[in-house]
Amino acid sequence: MIARVIAIDGPAASGKSSTAAAVARELGASHLDSGALYRGLTLIALELGQDDPVGIVAEADRRGLVLEHDGAEIVPFLDGRPAESQIRSEAVTAAVSRIAALSVLREWVNARLRDAATLERILVLDGRDIGTAVFPDAKLKVFLTASPEARARRRLAQRGEMFDSDTVRAEANVLAARDASDASRAVAPLRRAADAILVDTTDLSFREQVDRIVTAARKALLV
Ligand code: C5P
Repeated sequence: MIARVIAIDGPAASGKSSTAAAVARELGASHLDSGALYRGLTLIALELGQDDPVGIVAEADRRGLVLEHDGAEIVPFLDGRPAESQIRSEAVTAAVSRIAALSVLREWVNARLRDAATLERILVLDGRDIGTAVFPDAKLKVFLTASPEARARRRLAQRGEMFDSDTVRAEANVLAARDASDASRAVAPLRRAADAILVDTTDLSFREQVDRIVTAARKALLV
């Protein structure tokens, strides 16, 4: 059996993961943030001090970088423990786009995403290429976006720090650089699938964006 997939793609800090998790909760589905696996591989690359994809995959397998259920969330474990706090470091965020461009690593991630889908009834997946490359037959495809400034503000607010307009501009530039890198790579670049619905959350509340996707998902899944 293979899960019925809801694919949520979009640029950095567009709220994909929190939205996807809320959508999954409402649908009684599981949620998997595919970026977390790329972050896990990046952590390993940084610790190894090399970008050789074959070496990174061997080390990922040796240390057991695997997907595990934590309730309805499917998250990466490393060395037998949840990897969540380590994969969110600034060092990983700064390097992840470079590592995610390596096609051997994309194949490694995609195999794990597709394996995970065989164990689920409904799976909400978020990332950059879920609707275009990993699950082109997804039941529903959403491209979630927001203005660079709105995304930068949300990212800074999430960190709980005070910020002024210069900080917002600087953060928007960092996000734009990562998006440009993700959108210009040769393999599975960030782009909106032709059949994805566009949800621009610049002027939407979190509740509104979740409701919009849940409504579309219920229609697509007939649930
Ligand atoms: O979603 P998040 O910002 O955690 O993703 C980190 C990085 O992982 C992205 O900037 C992108 O380079 C990569 N990624 C990807 N394909 C996906 C998910 C994430 O290339 N499906």
